Amino acid sequence: MSRFFSPDLAGLVPYTPGEQPRDKQYIKLNTNESPFPPSPGVIAALHRGETEKLNLYSSPTAADLTEAIARRYAVPPDHVFAGNGSDEVLAFAFHAFGSAGVSAPDLSYGFYPVFAAFFGLPFYPVPVDECLRIDPDQFVRAKGMVVLANPNAQTGLYLTPAKIETIVRANPDRVVLVDEAYIDFGGESVVPLTKRYDHLLVVQTFSKSRNLAGARIGFAIGHPALIADLNTLKFSFNPYNLNRLSILAGKAAMEDEAYFRRCTEAVIRTREDTTAQLARLGFTCTDSRANFILAQHPRIHGKALYQKLKERGVLVRYLGETETRIDRHVRITVGAREQMDILLAQIAEILQEADL
Ligand code: PMP
Repeated sequence: MSRFFSPDLAGLVPYTPGEQPRDKQYIKLNTNESPFPPSPGVIAALHRGETEKLNLYSSPTAADLTEAIARRYAVPPDHVFAGNGSDEVLAFAFHAFGSAGVSAPDLSYGFYPVFAAFFGLPFYPVPVDECLRIDPDQFVRAKGMVVLANPNAQTGLYLTPAKIETIVRANPDRVVLVDEAYIDFGGESVVPLTKRYDHLLVVQTFSKSRNLAGARIGFAIGHPALIADLNTLKFSFNPYNLNRLSILAGKAAMEDEAYFRRCTEAVIRTREDTTAQLARLGFTCTDSRANFILAQHPRIHGKALYQKLKERGVLVRYLGETETRIDRHVRITVGAREQMDILLAQIAEILQEADL
C-alpha cells in the first residue's frame, strides 16, 4: 500500500478471481467459461472491418447491442442497460440502489460483499439452509436491496420464477436484483416479470452461455426508471464503457439463437452425464442448473482433490479457503465432453492410487 492510498479504502479485501496459471497448458475447469468458441457470426462480424473504426469512440448507449438484447427478450430498448461484464453492471446497481444496504445469501457470488464494502454499504448475509439452498422465506422484508444469484453461484441450485416472484412481492419498496449469470443452463428467466414489477432488476452476462467471457459484456433488464438510474451513474463515470468490438460481437452472439441453443444444450447434457459418472465414483453433487458442478467425496478433501488434479493438468476451483461449508467440495466447470472424460479418468486414478 502506498502512503497515498485513501484510509477509507485501506481495509478493502478484493475479490479473488479463479487462477489463470501460465506454467503449462491446463484443462481449465475453474472459471465457468464456455468450452466452445464464439458464434461464427461473431467472428464474421469482427472481420468486417470495425477495427478500422477504432479511432472513433464507441456508441455511449451501445445501441446496436442493447437493441439486439431488447429484441431477444421482447422488451423495449429503454428497459436494457449494457455494461463491461455483468460485474460492472452489478457494481453500478449496488452503487445506485444499495444505500440502505444489501441482503444476499451467505453462500453466493463472492463479489457481492466486495461491492458492498467498495461502496461503503452495509452487507446483510442471509443464511442458506443446511442443504445449501436459498430459503425464499428468509427474504421476506429483507434489509436494503435484495441480491440473489439464480441459479446460485457455487451451488448451482435454482429457484423457480414462482419462488422469485414471492420474494419480489414481499419486498415492494426495495430493489430486488436477480443475477441470472447461469440461467441459460436449464432455468427459466424472470425477465418477463420485469414488466409487472418496477423494482425487479435482472442481470445477465455474455460470459457463460454466449461464449464471450473475454469480450466482457453484461446487461440488466428492468423498468426504464431503474435503467435511467444506471445510466446516470454510467454517464458520470465511464460513458463509453463498452468498446466497439464488444458491441459488435455481442450483437452477433445475441442474434445467433441456433448456436446459443446448441452450446447450452451440449453443456446441459454433459453436466448430467458427468454428474452421473461422478456419482458412480462415490461423489455427491448438488442439483446444479448451472454450467458447473459442486461435488464432494466422502473420502477425499476438496483441497487435496484440487491439488492432485492440478498436478495432473486439470484445473478445478477449490473455494473452501474462504467458505468452510464447502471445504470438502470442488467446483468443476462443465467443459467439452473430451475434457470431462479426461477429468473423470484422472479422478478415478487419484481415488485408486489413494486406495479410496
Ligand atoms: N454473477 C455471477 C453469479 C458470476 O458467477 C459471475 C462470474 N463469475 C458474474 C456475475 C460476473 O460475470 P461477468 O463479469 O463475466 O459478466
